[in-house]
Amino acid sequence: MSKRVTILGSGESGLGAAKLASKMGYEVFLSDYGKINRQAQTQLKSFRVDFEEGGHDIPRIMTSDLIVKSPGIPDTVKVVVEALAKGIPVISEVEFAYQHLDDQAKVIAITGTNGKTTTTLLTYHLLKKAGLKVALGGNVGVSFAGLVAKGGFDYYVIEVSSFQLDGIVKFKPDVAVLLNITPDHLDRYENSMQKYISSKFRITENLTKEECFIYCADSKPITEELARRNIEACLFAISATKNDKWHAYLDEEHLIFNYEYKEAKSHHKIPVSEISLIGKHNMINTMASVLCALRMEISIKEILKGLKSFKNAPHRLEKVAEIDGVTFINDSKATNVDSVYYALEGINQPVIWMAGGVDKGNDYTALDDLVKDKVKALISLGVDNKPLNEHYRNTVSVLETDKIKKAVKMAFEHAKPGDVVLLSPACASFDLFKNYEDRGEQFKKAVKSLVKPKKVKS
Ligand code: ADP
Repeated sequence: MSKRVTILGSGESGLGAAKLASKMGYEVFLSDYGKINRQAQTQLKSFRVDFEEGGHDIPRIMTSDLIVKSPGIPDTVKVVVEALAKGIPVISEVEFAYQHLDDQAKVIAITGTNGKTTTTLLTYHLLKKAGLKVALGGNVGVSFAGLVAKGGFDYYVIEVSSFQLDGIVKFKPDVAVLLNITPDHLDRYENSMQKYISSKFRITENLTKEECFIYCADSKPITEELARRNIEACLFAISATKNDKWHAYLDEEHLIFNYEYKEAKSHHKIPVSEISLIGKHNMINTMASVLCALRMEISIKEILKGLKSFKNAPHRLEKVAEIDGVTFINDSKATNVDSVYYALEGINQPVIWMAGGVDKGNDYTALDDLVKDKVKALISLGVDNKPLNEHYRNTVSVLETDKIKKAVKMAFEHAKPGDVVLLSPACASFDLFKNYEDRGEQFKKAVKSLVKPKKVKS
């Protein structure tokens, strides 16, 4: 008799798990406490998967041999608690995918509080450009299980969140990357930073000396936790501070690599000017991606080509246009002070800074020195930006508006050739926009409308 698997949740990972489970010949049931959208229902029918919505059929679920849980569902929900009490294994979709992976396939798994998507996309790009059969997914785009169900890949570059790591058992990536740890999602970890750190470190739990662990040595929670553990994997430390003990570091205008894995050793010096990403944080992400590529035996020549041609996902320090010598950068994804810090730190020209929106109790002091040094004017964009305006009123000239088109126009009027107009809001977007993507798109549209179409002589 085939094994019975229940999948909880009908989002991207639930659907991926359902597809994979059905392909592998399980008897599959998908259960969602909420609604299952029409598209998802059509997909489930095409996989011949039985499903329910609006509640859980507990007696039926308790007859399962295995439960695959979507990352959004905490361990504390009744159905999970009951299943665990009954001894039914409950695993994450990432674990389920891993258990059905070809033995020869190589996995690069990337986690961290920030920078996951950028690093995952860049690593994928480097491998793809070098001609490898590589899949991209996980927490970004197609789920890991969906990719495994599709098949035909030799390499998988996947972004993994702490929630996905919480449900692993055997998951053992060939290369694990941990970029940084700062407080986030603590509500899912009983407000315990240590629990969140431990969750992130689960990415290392099955590693042996054959696998690699790339971590950022500038992140104190990471180095402190490392000191408490005995990780067998080959360790690669990366840092934004110059020191030859690191396997990769930033030395002013260059990235230096001291790569060493078993007998393979190589040294490389890559000029920052050859890298399409900007900002110190992105140099950390780049170091991680390059080390992954080196470990996959990609030549430095191919890597350099890939670094130059990489285009990041939109709204992350995205160069939109240069108009009359003024560069416009869209960093709409920067919804907190930390992200703005990295943006301002990474830009060397004078900045007209567009910020504001829904302020979640921000403390702007961390930005003060950078603002004094680099910002010529603040265009505050939002319904109510009192805290932001008050904080900077005596530092820079503050202009206010609640119309993005006007904000862009004001910024352009203030800018001189060589300046940068930076949208890096430090705030959520819901007062004026649907989401940060909508804010970024409207910014780009407003920038493009600054260029008047040339009249064609008839
Ligand atoms: P994630 O997928 O982890 O949310 P992204 O790559 O989408 O990360 O980047 C989100 C934001 O996080 C960026 O706009 C940037 O401000 C910040 N960020 C990116 N990389 C790093 C890093 N290595 N360290 C700290 N912050 C970073």
